[in-house]
Amino acid sequence: MRLVLSALLWPGLLAGCIWLTHLGIQADRTVLVFNLTYFGLAALLLLLERVMPHERAWQRSDGQLPADLLHTVLNKSVVQVMVVMGAALGISEAVSPDGGASWPTAWPLWAQVLLGLIIAEFGFYWAHRLKHEWAPLWPYHAVHHSVTRLWIVNTGRFHFGDTLLAIAFSQPLLFLAGAPGPIFLYVASITAFCGLLTHCNVEMRCGPLNRIFNTPETHRWHHSPDLAEGNRNYGENFLLWDQLFRTWFCPAGRRPPAAIGIREAMPRGFLGQLAAPFVWRRLQARPALPLMPRIPQGLEAAE
Ligand SMILES: [Zn+2]
Repeated sequence: MRLVLSALLWPGLLAGCIWLTHLGIQADRTVLVFNLTYFGLAALLLLLERVMPHERAWQRSDGQLPADLLHTVLNKSVVQVMVVMGAALGISEAVSPDGGASWPTAWPLWAQVLLGLIIAEFGFYWAHRLKHEWAPLWPYHAVHHSVTRLWIVNTGRFHFGDTLLAIAFSQPLLFLAGAPGPIFLYVASITAFCGLLTHCNVEMRCGPLNRIFNTPETHRWHHSPDLAEGNRNYGENFLLWDQLFRTWFCPAGRRPPAAIGIREAMPRGFLGQLAAPFVWRRLQARPALPLMPRIPQGLEAAE
């Protein structure tokens, strides 16, 4: 029974959330229905994290609850400010409700949503990959990877600079492709649901779906402190670009590590984490604040 449930949960929950959001968008009640669905999914996953956890050790508090929540709220505010600025600059009005000339408006809606996801995913992939593999950007993304456990509350734990980068890479591509307004809504909603699901500490077995989608199983490998395993699976929703650029990783028969985190110094407090990317070198040389636990130094050999 538990095995069947662990196989059905990921596709079932994602499909259910997408269906509810679809009804909300069609009924012009997007914000209300999306929020109800999002917080409903979060509540259900919190419950499932207690009942059928993937990693029991991740149920213990890491003292990061306030920081996780404050980063989440700040990110939400940053996105809101971007939307308001977009409106002020006339960008949001430029997104036609019916799509630009280059957009295949005659396609069925599901195919248009799929196309929107694949286009946005190209930006998500490269933003995420650069944040890992181009040293100047890593300090921003390190805030997210400094967690020592995965659970739904650290889904939104991103430095606001990290969030701005992901938006800057993904949204203009959709805009240039002439995606209609509703496609932006579908892509944003599906990305939000996938984010909760990939970070949750619920036992889910996704089998062959791991090859195509960013699932809890593939994303746990992404949080491995061994860079040969962690600098993989950069996709936000799909792993298609990971397949194409050969960064997909999900070995059969192996379990991702329970000991996750980063090797660099990261302050334990929210304000210290916000400042960290701007004082990164000094922070590494002479950390003056209480720090997050670091992963064992021996793993550096794997780099
Ligand atoms: Zn990452």
